[in-house]
Amino acid sequence: MSGQITPEKITPNTAAEGLPRPLLLQEVIAARAPWSHVVRQGETLRIVDLEGNQAVDFLIYSLADDAERYSFQDTIAAQENIFLRTGSILRSNEGAAMMTLVATSVAYHDTIGGACSVESNTLRYGHHTTSQHACVENFLCENAHYGRNKRDMVPNINWFMNVPVEADGALGIVDGISAAGLTVDLRAEMDVVAVVSNCPQINNPCNGFNPTPVMVIIAAADART
Ligand SMILES: [Zn+2]
Repeated sequence: MSGQITPEKITPNTAAEGLPRPLLLQEVIAARAPWSHVVRQGETLRIVDLEGNQAVDFLIYSLADDAERYSFQDTIAAQENIFLRTGSILRSNEGAAMMTLVATSVAYHDTIGGACSVESNTLRYGHHTTSQHACVENFLCENAHYGRNKRDMVPNINWFMNVPVEADGALGIVDGISAAGLTVDLRAEMDVVAVVSNCPQINNPCNGFNPTPVMVIIAAADART
């Protein structure tokens, strides 16, 4: 799903500032919606948090062979840190670099909190949430276009989501540290399919209890590099 609506202060031009040209794609992912697209080696995928505090659940599959996909274990082990920051290399289950977080205006991002699901919602928040849409459903719907199913679901990245880890190892899902107009820039290190669930969660603060649209932009490989 995509559209043309953006908040007044963020225009298509300002959202794309600093990216190589030409732009290959620029569209808005509606609140609660899934999205996916091929990002070729060298191209940059920018995700823009249009209204602030919107968690963007994210998976990566190799275009050549989707048995190779994002691995939070390999990513964390290789960088010896649980948070994703500028410079983080997003690694596959074979240890290969899939994408590099070349720039972000948010201090850190989560890759251990996982995706919301009907099952976890009903356990945590009660049976009345059983009809609420969740990220796992978004991922399953979007991945179905590529012939992938539940066996292809792996732990994901949560861009813009604040999951602090306490000294005793406890996790929290707390108010976000993102804001309107903040961005994530990901350079593809191989041809990949990027899959997004624009998180529909309304039972905890990960989206400020108000899911909102985000923008995605794909920029051509920078001829200077
Ligand atoms: Zn979610």
